[in-house]
Amino acid sequence: MSEAPVLEVSGLVKHFPVARGVLRRKLVGVVRAVEDVSFEIKRGETLALVGESGCGKSTTGRLVLRLMNPTSGSIRFKGEEIAGFDRDAMRRMRRHLQIIFQDPYASLNPRMTVGDILSEPLNVHEIGDAASRAARVRELLGVVGLQAEHAARYPHQFSGGQRQRIGIARALAANPDLIVCDEPVSALDVSIQAQIVNLLQNLQQRFGLSYLFIAHDLAVVKHISDRVAVMYLGKLVEVADKRTIYARPLHPYTQALMAAIPKTDPNLRTKRVMLQGDVPNPFNPPTGCRFHTRCPHAQARCSVEEPTLREAASGHRVACHFFETLPPPVIVARSGPPKGKFAERLAAFEAAKQKNAAPIVIARDPSPPKGAAKA
Ligand code: SF4
Repeated sequence: MSEAPVLEVSGLVKHFPVARGVLRRKLVGVVRAVEDVSFEIKRGETLALVGESGCGKSTTGRLVLRLMNPTSGSIRFKGEEIAGFDRDAMRRMRRHLQIIFQDPYASLNPRMTVGDILSEPLNVHEIGDAASRAARVRELLGVVGLQAEHAARYPHQFSGGQRQRIGIARALAANPDLIVCDEPVSALDVSIQAQIVNLLQNLQQRFGLSYLFIAHDLAVVKHISDRVAVMYLGKLVEVADKRTIYARPLHPYTQALMAAIPKTDPNLRTKRVMLQGDVPNPFNPPTGCRFHTRCPHAQARCSVEEPTLREAASGHRVACHFFETLPPPVIVARSGPPKGKFAERLAAFEAAKQKNAAPIVIARDPSPPKGAAKA
């Protein structure tokens, strides 16, 4: 991984105006979808952007690609400021910035063959001639684990996992540097998810790609990311490398997310952090710390003063006034036999196993073997 950032986002803001009225539309406020978000991604790195639905992570991904215009802030791609690019300049730049969408069923045009879908980016960016584009389509299909003859088929002739492979091939077509992966495995079965995540990792190593990986499944994020940025109600609340954030989350919201990950060891569990209430409305976010209405550690200062992202350690930034003094999440190792519902199910399983494992007695045939009397 090279040290030079491919993408630098600084102070990114996106407000959606809200107007009311039938004859005369009047501006009544704004939805603060993304507020002062800053991060960078290096070449060959995966930054995961995680948080609950509606926290602004997909909006951030679309702003980075300039699929929507930011209200303010800076987006520097390979050292060049692209936040102010006009339509034509952005169209030329877009071959270097691509996206993989969440829904492999809705993101492919059902009237186009796979060959047409994959050659479309090459046509739009005027890359190569007809023969080289056809060769590139065959190459792309091979790279994502499909066959060259699949180019003549339509999207409905493929499974969900295969369609997502086509979506990945389309994102790769113009040789991008950065791919925004917007929940690319959320719509797939668990077994297929692993295949797609492994494919993305192989492609990253092979082509030196950088990923902005948007997800809410922290188990998937743990597998693929290098660094993790946690978002709550349009703001980043914690950023750290993967090992640090999974081993020692410092923000109460990150701790709650981590505590909700199911443990694979039945004798090990993290003490649940129960968050109160729903996510507040971004039209009217809480004053001070946006998390104070649900935070189990909130104090008087939290409702009036907004915390900034502060350095807790090298590369680990947290937006909480009190992260230095908060108790760490408790990991409980159960001693003795398991209790409760799990114990009942385990006992039932063991009983069923014993029943099936009862020795099968084969009664010996008392009659002598044929021909034994003669002998
Ligand atoms: Fe909780 Fe206060 Fe920290 Fe916000 S600043 S996360 S409300 S303790």
